[in-house]
Amino acid sequence: MAVQKSKVSRSRRNMRRSHDALSSSVYSECPECGELKRPHHVCPTCGMYNGRGVVMIEEDVDEDDL
Ligand SMILES: [Zn+2]
Repeated sequence: MAVQKSKVSRSRRNMRRSHDALSSSVYSECPECGELKRPHHVCPTCGMYNGRGVVMIEEDVDEDDL
C-alpha cells in the first residue's frame, strides 16, 4: 500500500477539491414544443430532433395501470 509522506492540511485538501464541483446542466428550448431540452439531444417531450420525428412518444401512459 502506498503511504503518504506527510499529512495533507485542510487548506491543501480544500484547494484540491475546489475543482470538484459539478456544474448544472444546460437546457435550451425545443423549437417544436417549447419544452426545455438538452442541446444536441432528442426532445423527451415530443421526440423531435432537427425538425423531424425520431422517436415515438407514447401518450397517456397512466403510471397507476403499470
Ligand atoms: Zn419538443
